[in-house]
Amino acid sequence: MYEAGSPSAFPTSSAASGAAVHIPQRTCIGCRKKDDQAVLIRLVGVESDGRIAVHIDEHRRMSGRGAWVHRGSACFAAALRRRAFNRAFRGQVDTADAEAWFKALESAPSGSGLETVQPESGSEI
Ligand SMILES: [Zn+2]
Repeated sequence: MYEAGSPSAFPTSSAASGAAVHIPQRTCIGCRKKDDQAVLIRLVGVESDGRIAVHIDEHRRMSGRGAWVHRGSACFAAALRRRAFNRAFRGQVDTADAEAWFKALESAPSGSGLETVQPESGSEI
């Protein structure tokens, strides 16, 4: 396996030491953008039978390795496409549970004022 276009170094050292940060920022593994934790959903990898099942952790209480993605199927799809889950959870992942959640999210009327993500037209990434 090879990586097309080596990903940049993972940002480990966090800035903002001492500064009071009210809303934690997380990086979406779909679009790689940092955003408020509030607009991202946490995903947790739960290992079973050598595979890692990806679950939605809406209340951010589950233990285990976590990853964050925007609450929109576009970012989730992007994460799937670039195999970000495999990288985030270090193994073969089963995303059926998370996929179902995002599918339900799509069909549910939002009305929460969140910006809707435009579906991608064409694939230029
Ligand atoms: Zn995103």
